[in-house]
Amino acid sequence: MIGVLAFHGGFAEHISTLRKAGFESCEVRSVQDLSGLSGLIIPGGESTVIWKFLEKTGLGEALRVAKFPIYGTCAGMIVLAKDKLGLIDISVERNAYGRQVASFITDLEIVGRILPVGHFIRAPKITRVGEGVEVLASHDGVPVFVRQGNIWASSFHPELSAETSIHEMIFS
Ligand code: GLN
Repeated sequence: MIGVLAFHGGFAEHISTLRKAGFESCEVRSVQDLSGLSGLIIPGGESTVIWKFLEKTGLGEALRVAKFPIYGTCAGMIVLAKDKLGLIDISVERNAYGRQVASFITDLEIVGRILPVGHFIRAPKITRVGEGVEVLASHDGVPVFVRQGNIWASSFHPELSAETSIHEMIFS
């Protein structure tokens, strides 16, 4: 069972991508909702709102000790990064790809495959990658998909594409 943090933002798209990929999923809004999960997605949206929610509900504390894979997309990546939950050793700059009008879609090479998954929407830019962090995809020389142990993060939104391979890679 893969949980999707469902307080705010693009959780419905992640749930339908997970369903398409053959995973069972559920919406997560409290610490109790974490029990029995084998993975969690923190969707995009507005990172300030997601962060306040994580703090208020105690979910932030609970996720700091979680052992299952956690995948943050866009705003989800911001809250996983060094100066928030500190679960992955990257630094990010919010909205660094520009304003809403600068949002774009691109193919990305991910572990040797070209995939049409690069939906960038007021995306955060990864400005520093720590030693233990694996870069799985870059765009214009900038890392956009990274992993450190059980924590995965992308600047873009694969759940807005028809592809399921990123979700399969993380949760299979
Ligand atoms: N711009 C948003 C933020 O800084 C992230 C946008 C997104 O998740 N698509 O929180």
